[in-house]
Formats: sequence, structure tokens, C-alpha cells
Amino acid sequence: MLTEPEALDLVLSRITPLPSERVPTTTALGRFASETMLASLPLPGFDNSQVDGYALRAEEAPKGAELPVVAEQPAGPDLQLELPPSSSIRIFTGAPIPRGANAVIMQEDVTRVGHSITINDPVSAGENVRRLGSDLCAGQILVRSGQRLGPAHIGLLASQGIDHAPVHRLPAISVLSTGDELIAPGLPLKTGQLYNSNGPMLVAMLANEGLHGATAHHCPDQLDATISCLSSLAAESDVIIVSGGVSVGDHDHIKPALNALGLEPELWRVKVKPGKPFLFVHRIEPRPLYIFGLPGNPVSAFVTFHLFVKPALLKLIGASETKPAMAPATLTHEISNDGGRPHYVRGRWNRGQFHPTGLQQSYALFGLSQCNALLRVPEHTSLASGSTCEVHLLH
Ligand code: AMP
Ligand code: MG
Repeated sequence: MLTEPEALDLVLSRITPLPSERVPTTTALGRFASETMLASLPLPGFDNSQVDGYALRAEEAPKGAELPVVAEQPAGPDLQLELPPSSSIRIFTGAPIPRGANAVIMQEDVTRVGHSITINDPVSAGENVRRLGSDLCAGQILVRSGQRLGPAHIGLLASQGIDHAPVHRLPAISVLSTGDELIAPGLPLKTGQLYNSNGPMLVAMLANEGLHGATAHHCPDQLDATISCLSSLAAESDVIIVSGGVSVGDHDHIKPALNALGLEPELWRVKVKPGKPFLFVHRIEPRPLYIFGLPGNPVSAFVTFHLFVKPALLKLIGASETKPAMAPATLTHEISNDGGRPHYVRGRWNRGQFHPTGLQQSYALFGLSQCNALLRVPEHTSLASGSTCEVHLLH
């Protein structure tokens, strides 16, 4: 059985990022750049005023000086004004600095009477002038290949006049919940049945990573139905995420169904708790297909998604960094793991402190809902209260 770092390495080694496409910059939020993009324009693009006031030569405007106001330059087209000696030009925020001026005095720092101003609080050369290229030079890197585009990157690309951005394509993802006992939320529940929570949870976990629009499916615990379900999803998906049916019980049909379809798992079972039955298939021909088999217990499905599926999908959609966010933590309680597999304990991380939340069993969905972090406790290990460690941040 592989350890979880070995399993993750194996999964990641099989993932090839999806090809590139160009999408409108306005829709590129959360996508990963497929090329390094360079600035073609400096920012600011021209010297301009930082305030509403008067453009002048600082050395001609000591306290008490009186200067005529000879023209006006609003934001917008450059009127190509030239500042005559010992004078000022009315100017507004974002407007081009008239030739000959070297500073802008705020309107609050002068007294204006008719067509002249008196200086109350002098400026020095360069003051309130936003210089061409002071933020960004042409040729500088805007966004690196593999970087996720956030709102400010979208703004930055737009500021360069870039209306389409090169990003990695998104995968078509199917989420398949297996189990005769499952019933869709909204329908009446009979004894022995339970609502399908993994399906909605996994679709939400995908959406959390910017992977919207995954389709949800259900399959009963029958071999034939499982084969036909997997085969039709395989025809229309880049990724299938299965929950349940991946163990060795008489009603676990995923492995036999994969077998019947000629899809041999590259990986089955990982030395981790929860999540031991995790399974991974990589089909190359006729086109790449990745199948992740997660255990049916909700916490196991959640933890294996976090440990293996999320990094794999991040690599698939072009991320250069797939490691989870970690944070230092001090334990508020002793936490022990007597078992022979590393245990991912669910808990809350708050201001550098971590405490476990709820029941630590793989079916305990409520306890899971209270957590915002996972703590990896190695096998046969006890971590003392007050000891320091690192936790995986989930949000
Ligand atoms: P399995 O991995 O199929 O043996 O399922 C393990 C446990 O997880 C069983 O108690 C199932 O009822 C439960 N389970 C499986 N799939 C789901 C699901 N989609 N939503 C909630 N619980 C599930
Ligand atoms: Mg089952």
C-alpha cells in the first residue's frame, strides 16, 4: 500500500495540463494563465495629476506667491498645454501634466480669487505627479504561466487593453454517487435510506476551486448498471469522481466495472485514515480520462478529495502550485493516533490555535462541517497539548 505522499506523486505524475484557449478577459477570473504575459504599455501611460489642483513649477511657488491661472486641463484628451513662466494651469485628477510643470498643488492648499491663486502650503518638485511607468514598465511580466487570475489580474490585463487571455481549458467533470441506499434530497426518505450528501458536497468542492458545472449522477449497486454508467460518463468526461463502491464488499462494483471496461486502476488503497480505499485510473487513449474513486463515507470522500483530487485537478487546469495552504498551529488539546495509518484530524484553526471538532469518525459529516483545517497525525503518535505543528487550511 502506498503512503499518501507516494500516492499523490503517482497521481500528479500522470496528469497533463489541459490545452490552452483564449477567453474574454472578463470571464477569466479563477482560471490559470497558460502563457506568461508581458506588459506592452507602461503604467501610468503618461505623467498625470494625482489630485484636483493647479499645475505649476514648484520653484516659482513659495508660500504667499500669487500666480495667474492661464488655462485648464481636465482628465481626457491631452490639450498639449505649455505652462508659461510664473503661472499655473487648473488641473484635475488623472489629467496629463502640461509641459513645463513639475508639480501639482492641491486646490485645498491655495486661495483662488478670480483668475489667480495664492500659495498657502507650497509643494516640492514632483509632488502629486504620477510619473509615466512608475507602477509598471513595458516589457515587465504581468502574469506568469501557471498563475491563477484574481480580480486584480483581470483589472491589470484590461488596463493593458487585453480583451482575451490565454488560459488552460477547463475539464468536463462528472460526479458519480453509488449506492442503493442513496436518495436525492427533496424526495421522501424510507427507513434504511439516506440522502446523497457526497454528490452535492463534491460538486461544491469543485466549484470552490473554480470548477463550476460538474454534472451529478447516481448509480445503483449493480455491476451491469455500474458498467454502463461508467462507460457513458467516460465518453463525455475528462474527469469522473466516484464516491462509494470502491472497497471490497459484495456490493462494491466500481473495481469490477472498471475491469470490465479495460480500465485498470493505477492506484488502489492508500495508507491514510480516513480514505484507505482511494482509487485512481488514468486512461490515455482515445483521449485522456482520469477517474478518482473516493470512499463513500462523507469524511473519507472529503479528505481524499482534499489530499489527491484537488492537487490533481489544479495541475490539470494549469496551476504551477498545487500544494495546500499550510499554517502554523499550537494544539489546544492532546491528539493521539494509536492506529497504523496517518490520521487527518478535522478541526478548527483560529489565530494560530487548533482544536479538533466533533466526532472523528469517517461518517461524521456534522463534525466535518465544523472544521476549517486538517491536522496530519502520524501513525502511533501522540501530540501533546501546547505542541506546535502545521495544519492544512481548507478555505
Ligand atoms: P461505501 O464506500 O459504498 O461502502 O460506503 C460507505 C458508507 O458511506 C456507507 O455507510 C454509505 O451509506 C455511505 N455513503 C456512500 N455514498 C454516500 C453518499 N453519496 N452520500 C452519503 N453517504 C454515502
Ligand atoms: Mg456503497
